[in-house]
Amino acid sequence: KDISSKNIRQQFLDYFIKEKNHAFVKSSPVVPFCDSTVPFVNAGMNQFKGIFLGTQVPHFMKVANSQKCIRIGGKHNDLNIVGKDGYHHTFFEMMGNWSFGSYFKKEACEMAWELLTKVYKIPPNRLYVTYFGGDNKLNIGPDFETKDIWKSIGLLDNRILPFGIKDNFWEMGASGPCGPCSEIHFDHICDTNRGNLVNKGLHDLTEIWNLVFIEYNRCADGSIEALPKKHIDTGLGLERLTCALQGKLSSYDTDLFDYLITAIHKNCNNIPKYSGKFGEEDWNNIDTSYRILSDHIRMIVASLADGIIPEENQKLRRVLRRCFSLSQNVFFKESGFVKELSNYVVEHMGEVYPEMEQNIKQIHSIIDFEEDVYKLLKEAAEKELKKISFSNKFRENTDFVDFTPSFILAMKELQNTQPNEITGDLAFRLYDTYGLDSDSIQQLSEILNMSYNPENLVIKMNKVRAKSREEHHIQFNKIFDSLNGDLNKTDDTEKYSYRRNESGYIFP
Ligand code: ATP
Ligand code: MG
Ligand code: MG
Ligand code: MG
Repeated sequence: KDISSKNIRQQFLDYFIKEKNHAFVKSSPVVPFCDSTVPFVNAGMNQFKGIFLGTQVPHFMKVANSQKCIRIGGKHNDLNIVGKDGYHHTFFEMMGNWSFGSYFKKEACEMAWELLTKVYKIPPNRLYVTYFGGDNKLNIGPDFETKDIWKSIGLLDNRILPFGIKDNFWEMGASGPCGPCSEIHFDHICDTNRGNLVNKGLHDLTEIWNLVFIEYNRCADGSIEALPKKHIDTGLGLERLTCALQGKLSSYDTDLFDYLITAIHKNCNNIPKYSGKFGEEDWNNIDTSYRILSDHIRMIVASLADGIIPEENQKLRRVLRRCFSLSQNVFFKESGFVKELSNYVVEHMGEVYPEMEQNIKQIHSIIDFEEDVYKLLKEAAEKELKKISFSNKFRENTDFVDFTPSFILAMKELQNTQPNEITGDLAFRLYDTYGLDSDSIQQLSEILNMSYNPENLVIKMNKVRAKSREEHHIQFNKIFDSLNGDLNKTDDTEKYSYRRNESGYIFP
């Protein structure tokens, strides 16, 4: 049986497209061109938002794809956990199937179960499911309908568990389409006596698939309104499923990452091999560094291939700088290492996401440029760090602060100007000039004993965004139209739909 990640992705698409009559829609870029409510595309459903809200007419009622996702900002931000566990990544592929007002809960659950247990042949006793247990504030009761559906499929009561709003009410961001969901979890250990999900979040039990029942819209003012139609939106993490099917402890041991782990080792001298340790067991942080670097490099390639520019996206810049820093300080590579690793990603993912191959020159030159800037900053920062005086509170305990070069330079600026407060305007300047996010600004304010209210930054950002939106309105519209085209075209199958030959799908 072929359990390569390539075949796992293919089987998913085959199942929904060939057997269940779904249309293939290619992954959108990871840049949310038409949507300023999220910093990156964070789920497969993003490109269908308009359809859910009823502002866009779907051409196909049932679609499926594998979407490139990035979760390092906004409501879904996994940046700080990456490397510490084995299954949260900055960049990952989310396979999904959608129904736009066509089938609903029952069919979605049945298909998911059939695919997992019959096609992928996961023994049912390795799986648990959850449903929404209701929420008073939302004024939405428990989703017993879904519980009953799982029962009718044959799951026992002790495998169908309710959870609250945090886990079982899915939302894209602060606003947007949302609804109760049902998650499928994989048990890596298979203790059939375990009757609850107390171990949720640990390595033995991992969420692999989320079936979202889109029925509501969260409005900008926080209120919830019912949508005109009910939709299905599902997301199955390729990395996590591959980990389960390949019988590995973490995604980093699967073929989606192991080539990078190997490449890091091969390209470094005298660095211990990756040994898969986590937490305190990884006492010198070497394994964690392997994981972070191999995770981040995929995110960097995916972002640059889709045209995100670090100058305009501080999150991406931060991830890049973290890679440069790891390369130098942990793997003792002076320069060019991140670029070298990007080649491995393009080689392994380029077949599925050809934009990576097409844009390889741009990917290289941006990485080079950013590395040069990083080095200059670092030099300047090291000089400054020696001169900086910390407030008493933080003199002993600055361990948790990530002293990046930009952080230190911002600190220097504030020490020179000595404001009492970091206002919204000033915070925005720090964000804009040094690439600091709100958390870093908060740390700065604490170290330097200045007051700071993060909400002021949000307000300022919104103002700036609104202004730039106006300015780019025409441009946005153009891109929006061209993306709409992708969804609505049927005649142009060559370009917009999948094709198949003996060796598999040819992606547009
Ligand atoms: P978790 O609770 O583990 O953080 P989630 O509930 O935030 O996951 P969803 O928003 O439901 O995840 O996304 C659907 C699927 O996408 C998940 O079931 C999982 O397989 C995958 N997924 C989500 N976040 C990540 C990530 N950071 N890295 C890899 N896969 C992910
Ligand atoms: Mg999450
Ligand atoms: Mg979850
Ligand atoms: Mg989930």
